[in-house]
Amino acid sequence: MKEKLKRIPIVVRLLQLLHPTYSTCTICGLPWSNCESHTIQVTKYKGFFHVCQYCWERSDVHTLKQACIPVYNMWLREWERFNVKPDITLQQMYDAVEKDKLNN
Ligand SMILES: [Zn+2]
Repeated sequence: MKEKLKRIPIVVRLLQLLHPTYSTCTICGLPWSNCESHTIQVTKYKGFFHVCQYCWERSDVHTLKQACIPVYNMWLREWERFNVKPDITLQQMYDAVEKDKLNN
């Protein structure tokens, strides 16, 4: 119940204001200081987290894939800013989400 209450939009907004330096789950919007992330491995050395464990368990594969887009766009801006070659594609993220979701 507490997990559900934390995700009421006004509570989410308040927690975001209280923890402005943290990035957030791309589904419920909770800052990482207030929820547990779900890490997905792409390769042995590369992983990412874009949603919290709560949202991971309650969302379908399509929703979880869509939730990768804001993270990927943020990375694109970072790679461009630092003139770094991207080391992951959006398709690799989609494949990793699908594989992880089907195995859990
Ligand atoms: Zn979430």
